[in-house]
Amino acid sequence: MNIKSFSFDWNDYNGELSSFDRSQIMNIMEDYYNSDLSVAKIRSKYSISSNVRNLAKEFPFVYLEEKCPYDDSNLVKQLTSRTGYSTRIPQCPTCGHKLNSNCNCDGCREERRRIQEQKRELVILTYPTDIDKVKYEDLSSSSKIFLSALLHAGLNEEANKISGETIIENKLSPTNEFDEIILEHLLSKNIILIDPMSPIDAFSADNFPNEYYYFKVNYLVNVEMGSEGMGYLEYPDRTNIIQHHKEECLGMWRQIALYECLEYLVEQMNEARFNFNPQDKTRLVINHLIEEYSIGQIWNLIYGSVNNAAAWYQKSNVTKKHAANSVITTLNNRGDRAKAENWKLKSYRRSYNNKLSQLSMVFFDSILQIGNEGFEKIPSIDLISC
Ligand SMILES: [Zn+2]
Ligand SMILES: [Zn+2]
Repeated sequence: MNIKSFSFDWNDYNGELSSFDRSQIMNIMEDYYNSDLSVAKIRSKYSISSNVRNLAKEFPFVYLEEKCPYDDSNLVKQLTSRTGYSTRIPQCPTCGHKLNSNCNCDGCREERRRIQEQKRELVILTYPTDIDKVKYEDLSSSSKIFLSALLHAGLNEEANKISGETIIENKLSPTNEFDEIILEHLLSKNIILIDPMSPIDAFSADNFPNEYYYFKVNYLVNVEMGSEGMGYLEYPDRTNIIQHHKEECLGMWRQIALYECLEYLVEQMNEARFNFNPQDKTRLVINHLIEEYSIGQIWNLIYGSVNNAAAWYQKSNVTKKHAANSVITTLNNRGDRAKAENWKLKSYRRSYNNKLSQLSMVFFDSILQIGNEGFEKIPSIDLISC
């Protein structure tokens, strides 16, 4: 190492070697970097106090070409130790700025604040909130029920926004996929809006701020509210819904049934350690079953089909994938068989793992007021009445 080629920052030097003059320090450095003398020998040669534990750390810093972005001072850097395996971080002798990403100097803090502010402005531009409020009377029954469930799942203490994070925590619907369908439905009709004051990291960094995470952003309710306030939206008028929108209610019952069955199927498949991601065929089979069976009965069929496949896998040398694929076919066949042979199919009970979703509670308990029958009876228009 050519010590003389460096330009040292003597002005700010206040290391443990301050009692030596510059030329002595240069000699110490020369011996340290360019001789075979052990550190102990160097210490005794110059009578360096034993308080100096790490010699290399006491050398003056070296000026670099690179300048500080905040005050244009040349950055300085500590020389590495003799063994040289730790790299030193360049820093500014004037303001203390360090050349690493988590520097906490005033300049960097201000810079980060400015970037956050710019991002916030961009979010505010992208997600305006001065959009005409939707009239509650104009909402479909599905929209009213979805909104009610969403408020149950995510309305914050101040009752002014819906927190995306609590949507999953409080289980809006049986599955995340259905949660997203509900949010999309309400967003597309401007019934809810993305809150532009949502945390900045709720927006994807890749396509900022056009993409966001459903369960990280917050939502604002964009419905005209009378004096009743939010409570009105949380508890829709069931009589009106049931009297005029029976078919819509039946559709919702079937949709909830589909997702409750998918939730249970995925859970059973996981328990059997089968890899599984429900596709169109699975939905077709379950939708077909929903015409003949209650959710609880379909759970019974699912339980049997998954366990059959697991037993088959154990006993034969069929591949795991093959066994897993057989589940949906078996499920379909068992459904048909049960009907043809007139099985008395017992309805399963909801287990502790399958917490009831906010949507199921709102729909079965508050709107239809049939409680557990929603789970134990075949979806039917005859059960939808005031
Ligand atoms: Zn600086
Ligand atoms: Zn800095």
